[in-house]
Amino acid sequence: MTEQFAVDVLICGAGAAGLTLAIDLARRGVSFRLIEKMDKPFHGSRGKGIQPRTLEIFEDLGVLDRMAAAGGPYPRQRHYHDDGSHSDSELMEQQAPIPAEPYRTPLMLPQFLTEAILRERLAELGHHPEFGSELVGFDQNETGVAVRIIGRTGEENIRVRWLVGADGGRSFVRQALDLGFPGRTLGVRAIVADVSLTGLNRDVWHRFGDKDMQRQISLCPLAGTDLFQIQGPVPLEGDVDLSVEGLNAMVAQRTGRDDIQVTSVSWASAFGMNARLVDRYRVGRVFLVGDAAHTHPPTGGQGLNTSVQDAYNLGWKLAAVLAGARGQLLDTYEEERRPIAAAMLGLSTSLLEDLKRGEIRRGRETQQLDIGYPKSSLTIERLARDGDVLAGDRAPDAPVQGAAGQSMRLFDLFKGPHWTLLAYEANRAGLPPRRGLHIHHIGERGDIIDHAGHVRDIYVLGPGDWVLVRPDGYIATILASAEMAVLQRYLEEVGLGQPEQAHP
Ligand SMILES: Cc1cc2nc3c(=O)[nH]c(=O)nc-3n(C[C@H](O)[C@H](O)[C@H](O)COP(=O)(O)OP(=O)(O)OC[C@H]3O[C@@H](n4cnc5c(N)ncnc54)[C@H](O)[C@@H]3O)c2cc1C
Repeated sequence: MTEQFAVDVLICGAGAAGLTLAIDLARRGVSFRLIEKMDKPFHGSRGKGIQPRTLEIFEDLGVLDRMAAAGGPYPRQRHYHDDGSHSDSELMEQQAPIPAEPYRTPLMLPQFLTEAILRERLAELGHHPEFGSELVGFDQNETGVAVRIIGRTGEENIRVRWLVGADGGRSFVRQALDLGFPGRTLGVRAIVADVSLTGLNRDVWHRFGDKDMQRQISLCPLAGTDLFQIQGPVPLEGDVDLSVEGLNAMVAQRTGRDDIQVTSVSWASAFGMNARLVDRYRVGRVFLVGDAAHTHPPTGGQGLNTSVQDAYNLGWKLAAVLAGARGQLLDTYEEERRPIAAAMLGLSTSLLEDLKRGEIRRGRETQQLDIGYPKSSLTIERLARDGDVLAGDRAPDAPVQGAAGQSMRLFDLFKGPHWTLLAYEANRAGLPPRRGLHIHHIGERGDIIDHAGHVRDIYVLGPGDWVLVRPDGYIATILASAEMAVLQRYLEEVGLGQPEQAHP
């Protein structure tokens, strides 16, 4: 008798990670449920910076333009000095787009707006988070996971094939798995508060007491809203008054000004900073994504971005295995994402040290464009290449033309849940079509024209080269035509082995 499952995947937690995974699974036609223990959406600004790599992912998921319309650029920072003067600086170098990188500066969008747009996209795909539904227990065996949910209509016991804990820093799933979460507390506690206030203009991010952890306070106009986000360190122990009166007292004491008046508080929180990374991202049929797997200081704006990218890495692999790819593909999720989180913890912790010294500047590494999986078992490096772009790297964008004469970008070809194979002036006759793989011939009589040579220059390709791009936009391999057998084997291993049957 075949075993019955309520759905293939249960996603626990409808924050940024859970919503991203839900959208990715929905567009792939995977059956899932997305449960959220809160009764209504989270309404705080928290992760307000969407990094360039995440913007690319949001473009693929069909939400980028709405996010850009809802948010805005980061303003300059204004540093107020003790002598009453002030000086302005950029938080990061402003960089214009280049053909390989269409987005080179972060977008500011409060997390509650980011999540609202993700929910809107999910609704278009026919799904909604189930608010007021809490995962309270689970038990797995070789074939599936029995889960216990308490929802608005009572208790429910269902069986699913896979469980994903996208349930945040205090993850129930992580704790139930009894996994180690080693790391350290960083000895810094801070407040974050979304407020309405008068007395400050909205053109700059106002920073007071930069070099003094007792007095630092920053007031950032939140793009897409009339709010400011207040951030500042507070003593490790004791209550912090996050009311209008309490915040006004803190602002007056730290800025030395009485003309800044908080008039209302829409969300506020005090939190201790930790840098921790879970021992394992997968235990059998249960995965952890996002803050459930890693927690870190907010410096550098990495948390939400890393969480979204975890989900984006896992989504296509779950769908592929459900469609018949070998199960080991799912082991590459931890293999690829855990080292990224380890590096991100180091980065955000070192930026916290900079912040303590009053040095507030973000470099290229915070943009996450150089994240890649060169050492992954899913990456095959075959050619001795001296070009910048190697297997495992993020697949760069490039302007191209369709054979019909229209302007396009490589990202248009990558957009969607499929793999993409670029045959650069190569004969694609030997490779039959198959489900889940889009093959494009770039060249003189190809469907895509490299009219300005951008693909050739960015990817450093010559006639007869092939580039295989994963569904999540990373280069699986770059091969010469003579190595089609390697490509064939690889496609089979990732579940793309079956050419479509030719109909008589
Ligand atoms: C104060 C603060 C400031 C931050 N600033 C930044 C920043 O500037 N830039 C940045 O990139 N990141 C920032 N972050 C981090 C960012 O907010 C997180 O990394 C991001 O929210 C992680 O998303 P997530 O989906 O993994 O987890 P969460 O957003 O925490 O979502 C987890 C969800 O799971 C739900 N849940 C928990 N348990 C259960 C259960 N048993 N059943 C059902 N549902 C459950 C929770 O209610 C929650 O909605 C900040 C975080 C904090 C706290």
